[in-house]
Amino acid sequence: MALFNRKKTCHASQSGSTSCKKTVALVGNPNVGKSVLFNVLTGAYVTVSNYPGTSVEVSRGVTAIDGQQFEIVDTPGMYSLLTITEEERVAREILLKESPDIVIHVLDARNLERMLPMTLQLIEAELPVILVVNIMDEAERMGLKIDIPLLSRKLGIPVIGAAAAKKKGIQEIRRNIANFHREGNVRFIYNKRLENDIEGIAGLLKGDYRISRKSLALLLLQRDDEINGLVKDTEGTYPALEEKVKETIFERRTSFHQDLSMERRRIVKGLIKEVFSAPDKMKITLKEKLSRLTVRPITGVPILLVVLYFGLYKFVGVFGAGTLVDLVEQKLFEGFFNPWITGVVKNLVPWEVIQELFVGEYGVITLGIRYAIGIILPIVATFFLFFSILEDSGYFPRLALLVDRLFKHIGLTGRAVIPMVLGFGCDTMATMVTRTLETTRERILATLLLALAIPCSAQLGVILAILSKAKGALLVWTVCMVLIFIVVGFLAAKVLPGETPVFYMELPPMRLPQLSNILTKTYTRMQWYFLEILPLFILISVLLWIGKITHLFEKVVDLMKPVMASIGLPKETAVAFIFGFFRRDYGAAGLYDLQSKGILGVRQLTVAAVTLTIFIPCVAQFLIMKKERGLKTALLIAGFVSVMAYASGYLLNEFLLVTGIL
Ligand code: GDP
Repeated sequence: MALFNRKKTCHASQSGSTSCKKTVALVGNPNVGKSVLFNVLTGAYVTVSNYPGTSVEVSRGVTAIDGQQFEIVDTPGMYSLLTITEEERVAREILLKESPDIVIHVLDARNLERMLPMTLQLIEAELPVILVVNIMDEAERMGLKIDIPLLSRKLGIPVIGAAAAKKKGIQEIRRNIANFHREGNVRFIYNKRLENDIEGIAGLLKGDYRISRKSLALLLLQRDDEINGLVKDTEGTYPALEEKVKETIFERRTSFHQDLSMERRRIVKGLIKEVFSAPDKMKITLKEKLSRLTVRPITGVPILLVVLYFGLYKFVGVFGAGTLVDLVEQKLFEGFFNPWITGVVKNLVPWEVIQELFVGEYGVITLGIRYAIGIILPIVATFFLFFSILEDSGYFPRLALLVDRLFKHIGLTGRAVIPMVLGFGCDTMATMVTRTLETTRERILATLLLALAIPCSAQLGVILAILSKAKGALLVWTVCMVLIFIVVGFLAAKVLPGETPVFYMELPPMRLPQLSNILTKTYTRMQWYFLEILPLFILISVLLWIGKITHLFEKVVDLMKPVMASIGLPKETAVAFIFGFFRRDYGAAGLYDLQSKGILGVRQLTVAAVTLTIFIPCVAQFLIMKKERGLKTALLIAGFVSVMAYASGYLLNEFLLVTGIL
């Protein structure tokens, strides 16, 4: 089994003898300063490459201490030995497969209590651990006091206080690397019941493993598939072991994982009682208070609504899709740029057909570029700005905890919050991110819900802008989408076999979003998005132009006429639907145009908005669905979504006609 191969970097020296560099792995949560420490330790000799078989990057460098060579590996961020994301898997695999001679756990001094459980896990696994308590400069500034020598004695491992960014503590870290020797590990004792459970499993493990039996037993009890596979390949009496694991989990009934996390927290609390002190007024900071308010349902839901109201509705909908689009699309494009470019093209090109291609009804410039820059760009920019602010503040993990209970009913966990919220930006991007979900079942469910009920930012922006002008329309649309999301999610979770995994998330600290981070993140996302849509928008305009000159487009519109009529919509709406098939955002922009021309009434706008939101995912999203989930699943989802879109449009139209509420 791969996990056993002890792979070392060995090099032939000039004298002909072979020497092996010792390996030092840096591990820890994201954002604790691993990379900064890595750079300080290694200087210029660095290689960055994808970990084999993954898209995760791992940096390796070499350093010499007292004439001895060490290879330093900067592992991706991990929260626990129980891995969930691909990054965490890679980090764990480096620990197990490459079996480093020293594991440096880097943590953030400001969050000692939250991050020490991972140190416990590493010690418990009997790995050769050194603890670096980093960002001490900030901790001291906040008045936090950490007794490093005492912590070292309590943990039974070397502990160094450092500020890697200020190059403080580096010499001590280097000294500890060079002189590292293992000491008898301290044992941490859980409650009796848990210890009994562990003993029952660990006692059955007879193989030779790189990590302790206690750790293996705990991972097995938390149903870690990878570890299960490893044990299965090693143990002759695996069936008995498997039986015992199942029996223990069954007896426990409550969540093993949560129990264990609580126990680890209890131990850490006891450990740091004398080690750590904070000034009284610091004990509950404002950020801490806000953090608690965001996860408690009673206060968390109203906070979420406020965030949605100001962030999505006011900022993206009213300001982005309203004010900015008016300015760029109406004033700049329609008022100035389009008439000017139309004149230029008509002067330069004598053939009407070619004029049509560039500046006609579906022209590359007058439609494609106008849609991309005039309508989509302002909306997407405001959305990504809003998303990046939330992301940088640390709100998402809290939102994940808040909605976890609801998401469980639809077969997802709180972890799906990120792809779902990102879906409001671009469903194609979000479908890619569903990769980070734990099980295939969750990924399929999330992909389906993204395709079905999550409008992308362009759609959302346009819909908010259009429907908010008519009383009640926005409410009807919102109720429809929420209902469809919940009902389909609930039913799909019933139909798809499998269980919802247990969700547990370490909360990173909340903080005031930093302008530079927000701008970089917004810029990168917008760049990705824009480069993705611009060629497609141009291509679609060309296809529409071909459709127009061959009269094919009219025929398709005619064919769709009865379908449109059956949900109460005029023939012209078919155009927006055809646009939407190519790109969701293009369809939304089409709807915007129809509204500006005053073709649709309030009821029709609402029905069109609901149907278009659900309507088959655009080509780009479909292609990503196919890539991530396979052709069969992608086709099934697209088929289901189309039927749902029509059925919902039909029912909503009938309902509105009968009740006359709009
Ligand atoms: P990684 O995700 O663990 O690799 O974290 P990085 O090395 O990227 O660091 C995350 C952030 O913490 C960066 O903004 C660093 O500048 C900052 N940082 C790292 N070490 C220190 C430190 O010792 N003091 C302070 N104040 N900031 C630090």
